[in-house]
Amino acid sequence: MIVIRARRAVVDGAETPAAVLVAGERIEAILPFDMPVDAHDVVLADDEVLLPGLVDTHVHVNEPGRTEWEGFATATRAAAAGGVTTIVDMPLNSLPPTVDVAALHTKRAAAAGQCAVDVGFWGGAVPGNAGELAKLHAEGVFGVKCFLLDSGVPEFPPLDVDGLKAALEAVAEYDGLLIAHAEDGAVVRPAAGRRYADFVASRPPAAEDGAIATLLRLARETGARVHVVHLSAASALPQLAAARADGVPVSVETCPHYLTLTAEEVPDGDTRFKCCPPVRESGNRDALWQGLADGVIDMVVSDHSPSPPDLKHLDTGDFGTAWGGIASLQVGLPVVWTEARRRGHGLAQVVEWMAHAPAARAGCTARAASPRLRRRPRRVRARRAVHGGGAAPPPCRHAVRGPRAHRRRAPDLAAWHTGRGDAARAALAEGRGRVSERASEPMPQRRRGRAVSELASEPCGSACAKRRPSASEAVR
Ligand SMILES: [Zn+2]
Repeated sequence: MIVIRARRAVVDGAETPAAVLVAGERIEAILPFDMPVDAHDVVLADDEVLLPGLVDTHVHVNEPGRTEWEGFATATRAAAAGGVTTIVDMPLNSLPPTVDVAALHTKRAAAAGQCAVDVGFWGGAVPGNAGELAKLHAEGVFGVKCFLLDSGVPEFPPLDVDGLKAALEAVAEYDGLLIAHAEDGAVVRPAAGRRYADFVASRPPAAEDGAIATLLRLARETGARVHVVHLSAASALPQLAAARADGVPVSVETCPHYLTLTAEEVPDGDTRFKCCPPVRESGNRDALWQGLADGVIDMVVSDHSPSPPDLKHLDTGDFGTAWGGIASLQVGLPVVWTEARRRGHGLAQVVEWMAHAPAARAGCTARAASPRLRRRPRRVRARRAVHGGGAAPPPCRHAVRGPRAHRRRAPDLAAWHTGRGDAARAALAEGRGRVSERASEPMPQRRRGRAVSELASEPCGSACAKRRPSASEAVR
């Protein structure tokens, strides 16, 4: 057993001194900082913070079939390097897409033995497979994802309104969860050319507003639990808040790129920044932060979606033809924390958004006593504030080891590291995701991640089903 003692640890939503007792891969207890324990002692420096592992429920791994875009070995190593100890893989971009039980088994077989962190799976809801959704649920997917417009890959077609309703009825039957890429294809226009402003205009907030309105209406009608992935348009926040106030079981995520980048800063022709829906103007970014502060947006997850560099069409810089996706699994925590801190949010709040909320919504907590207890601890090193303000908490120097090492040729990430002299990108580049003095530490080479699922009998149950004392009990 080891005991990790930290004067700053995030436990149950607050920073507190604590000693975390770990046996094997399991946290046995969270104890007072100086409680004597018969275990190997690890004491963090005063400027280090002990955090729970993050849970990223929006990751596109793409293996099998498009492993050259991203595979389980590289994605899970990037996750581990970024402090993420569980990812939930999206059902599309891999071949076959995870739209039936056989495909889920294929995915699991592809992941087996390769994963540095725990991996769960979303199923897919596509036209004609409503009858498969309960079976996927029974096999342990965390929910099913659908698109309401072209997904970008032909083998994962979108649902029309009737198809969405059929899927929601099926999901409601077993009290499952449907997660939706909510943009309205009737509002989105074809994009072409190098001007980023043109690309943003081709996917206006109205496209998200309309699709979300449809989703909410059908969620009301069917009673199904729904989740909006990667919200970019803050204009949708009022209707989401109203629906929730009415008891519609809806949750919402946004992503690090929407919270840290702005359309004004994206250079024309720089298709590394292309994602769908797009990164919008700075006022929209402010409103998304307000949505987080208000609790209308529940969580921050990556939408990590790499592609080979040539698919980004950097040579032409054409936003119409470039692949839409940003790879950020490894740098989500430092960039979000950097911006969160600037806006007055604490580290414990960031942990709520990036660990507890996604775990709770995906259902990771249904069988684990608490993700805070279940997750392997991770530490980050804080440093003294560089920019004045003695009362400000120290920014986080995040130990990403080799920011470009643990991904598969994804060009997007580079944009987050190079910096270009303006404030926002400097914040991204300087904040974190840069190699720290811990670069000499070995990366997790052991492949000990497990497949996790909604079934308590699945492998993760052996490690996490036993009840442990809650953190508050243990601290007392
Ligand atoms: Zn996605």
